[in-house]
Amino acid sequence: MSNPGSTATGDPRRHAVVIGQGVVGCATAIEAIRAGMRVTLVDAEAAGGEHACSYGNSGWLSSHSVMPPALPGAWRKVPGWLADPLGPLAVRWPYLPRALPWLLRYLASGWTEERVQRTADALRSLLRDAPALHRQLALEANVPELIEQRGLLHVYRSRAEFEAEALGWRVRARTGVQWEEWDAATLREREPDLHPRYNLGIFVAEAGSCRDPGAYVAALAKHAQSLGAALVRARAKGFRVEAGRLRAVATDDGQIACDAAAICAGARSAALAASVGSAVPLESERGYHVQIDAATRGPRTSMMAADGKLIAHAMNGRLRAGGQVEIAGLDAPADWRRADILHAHLRTMFDGLPPTADWPGVRRWLGHRPSTPDGIPCIGPAAATRDVVLAFGHGHVGLTGSARTGKWAARWLSGAPPADWTPAFDPARFA
Ligand SMILES: Cc1cc2nc3c(=O)[nH]c(=O)nc-3n(C[C@H](O)[C@H](O)[C@H](O)COP(=O)(O)OP(=O)(O)OC[C@H]3O[C@@H](n4cnc5c(N)ncnc54)[C@H](O)[C@@H]3O)c2cc1C
Repeated sequence: MSNPGSTATGDPRRHAVVIGQGVVGCATAIEAIRAGMRVTLVDAEAAGGEHACSYGNSGWLSSHSVMPPALPGAWRKVPGWLADPLGPLAVRWPYLPRALPWLLRYLASGWTEERVQRTADALRSLLRDAPALHRQLALEANVPELIEQRGLLHVYRSRAEFEAEALGWRVRARTGVQWEEWDAATLREREPDLHPRYNLGIFVAEAGSCRDPGAYVAALAKHAQSLGAALVRARAKGFRVEAGRLRAVATDDGQIACDAAAICAGARSAALAASVGSAVPLESERGYHVQIDAATRGPRTSMMAADGKLIAHAMNGRLRAGGQVEIAGLDAPADWRRADILHAHLRTMFDGLPPTADWPGVRRWLGHRPSTPDGIPCIGPAAATRDVVLAFGHGHVGLTGSARTGKWAARWLSGAPPADWTPAFDPARFA
């Protein structure tokens, strides 16, 4: 493959290869070009396609999603995770031996409120200005209509249900998150289609949402190319490193000579990172969505229902419900009953939705959240060479966190730490 690095071309710009054109890779490519680099994006699949987690997420740009997935006392729920294969979080038995070390670290990272607060403070630094950064990116990519900043809503059946999540809201408040409470009457007025069993709304005005994540990623990839990024349709397999300097990215279609590279391959990043000395415990937190075309009822504001642990989001005329966490690895077949649970719950929230997944215009999807056990992505240099930068592991907040990640990863690609980065994101924390 002829795609030489800077020395060979005479192009004085540093040549950075970005592996993966999910939302994180696209944001990284755009920011690397902005920082003055020549960029090649490498991915065997099309940007915005259903294969990627960035396609099927719930579209939340939730700058307040700073809680790690595991909270104090989560260990008490472990028997339920193993016993109920259809619970909101389930671990498939045959996969348990492989997942166990990750699960233990996952439980430990949320063991005390102090640890949870540390994670929340770190995540807040990544997510704080996400809605504004995405509005800017969407504007540049010529799709401003895809990003909105109209707030996000959490709905509860009762105050007791809200208070059961008090720790989360207390921790969020300490990071500067503010919210409005909507009583039952306000909720009825603002969300006329929502079932009346919901009596309390928590409205976070600062947050935003994306009206079509797949289309957004496709637009970002197109924008990167219009700024000059080359695209190589191949799968990255490893790196050629000589005397601590990166010489090339190896793909299944030959080598790409380069000066720097970013690993943005989502849930499939761990082997690439390990090949440059960074052993990151990365697990797929498999999630599902069900999507109903031409739904006539639904939320005015995208909402998370505490009783169903799902997000209901109206996306350009389609209603999507996303959620569920299943620990079963990258290769196990989908368990569509989990998407059907989301569908059934959605039908209890809004009247008049199609009864089954076989109905015309109802689609189900499985995706792989790239998750570290502490809920914080790895953004920083690899152990074997600072020329390779890790930018993956965003778990539940990859859409939201991608914009700032792109800026940080681009800075690392140019060889220096970003001014507002903290070691909480350093891949070396797992060494
Ligand atoms: C049900 C669900 C709901 C979610 N809701 C939200 C939400 O509302 N808000 C939010 O912020 N986040 C949400 N997320 C999480 C978010 O979608 C992910 O964190 C994010 O999409 C990860 O993006 P990524 O670019 O790292 O990975 P991906 O989107 O998976 O992209 C990785 C890319 O790398 C490519 N690739 C893989 N291996 C290679 C290789 N060897 N060589 C070249 N290319 C390779 C793949 O083809 C792919 O295109 C949700 C996730 C799920 C499952």
